Amino acid sequence: DIELAIKVVIVGNGGVGKSSMIQRYCKGIFTKDYKKTIGVDFLERQIEIDGEDVRIMLWDTAGQEEFDCITKAYYRGAQASVLVFSTTDRASFEAIKDWKRKVENECNEIPTVIVQNKIDLIEQAVVTADEVETLAKLLNCRLIRTSVKEDINVASVFRYLATKCHQL
Ligand code: GDP
Ligand code: MG
Repeated sequence: DIELAIKVVIVGNGGVGKSSMIQRYCKGIFTKDYKKTIGVDFLERQIEIDGEDVRIMLWDTAGQEEFDCITKAYYRGAQASVLVFSTTDRASFEAIKDWKRKVENECNEIPTVIVQNKIDLIEQAVVTADEVETLAKLLNCRLIRTSVKEDINVASVFRYLATKCHQL
């Protein structure tokens, strides 16, 4: 029996790895040239939290973020959010505050994680560990560093959010 189904929205600038993260978590695959699929809405995965089955539903933006036109429908009913930036894309880091505000405008306060993706490219980092940690504190969000490519910490993101939602 599914006790809880959680809609999670995943936002951040284009190219940070959002679609890859959803594919990785729900299908267990990583493809370098994952094509943006217009109209794909969501994938899901079932996990167990404290002995209860929880269905995690991950909604993809299908590239709308690049035109700043994510619809209200995308956010509707979301119970948790992931704000993603890339280790190698400074602008995507600087946009995190704006993404937080957009989620808050549509969903009020929901459990949220800041994800620093592409940690496998740490040698090409354009952000320091310090500034990332400072931002996470300022926005009062858990910070998780991931590599979707190497499958590092991806499952922890959703386990953390599901646990938070389960406690509410
Ligand atoms: P989106 O626009 O945020 O949905 O980003 P995509 O999922 O389309 O990914 C953009 C590019 O980054 C693709 O070429 C992915 O293969 C690549 N990518 C995603 N995650 C990682 C990662 O953890 N490490 C590396 N090196 N590349 C990644
Ligand atoms: Mg995408």
